Amino acid sequence: TVNFLALDREGNLACGVSTSGWYCKYPGRIGDSPIIGAGNYADSRFAAVGCTGRGELAMRIPAAYTVVVRVQRGESLINALCQTMQDINKLEDPYATGLSMVALDKDGNHAAVSNRPDTTYVWLEEGMDSYQESPRIYVA
Ligand code: ASP
Repeated sequence: TVNFLALDREGNLACGVSTSGWYCKYPGRIGDSPIIGAGNYADSRFAAVGCTGRGELAMRIPAAYTVVVRVQRGESLINALCQTMQDINKLEDPYATGLSMVALDKDGNHAAVSNRPDTTYVWLEEGMDSYQESPRIYVA
């Protein structure tokens, strides 16, 4: 999946998602990318979010909308991403890894989070120590 997040000069946020789908997928599976709120969501008042990876996880929460709602409630972008990923990691799903999310807020802040163990990550913000204890959240 390729995610495009944009903020224009007038403050409009947009999200575009293109996916090849999941290999070996069940016939008829559409994945999270075309489902507004799961694989993508944008609200110019708050944030835009796109997901890639195991779409079932994004569909179950639904992930992109949850991040935006958390920002609406006053959480920072990175906190909203990490809290949503924690929700995903608590799903009783044997395949509950392999989802990544990227987000952009109305002020132009951007962040990404993944629960893929092979994701290279760096910490961009101070005060995120609590998440470092989680082996399944990687922040870029
Ligand atoms: N998110 C997509 C899906 O689940 C897979 C991908 O990232 O390409 O269909």
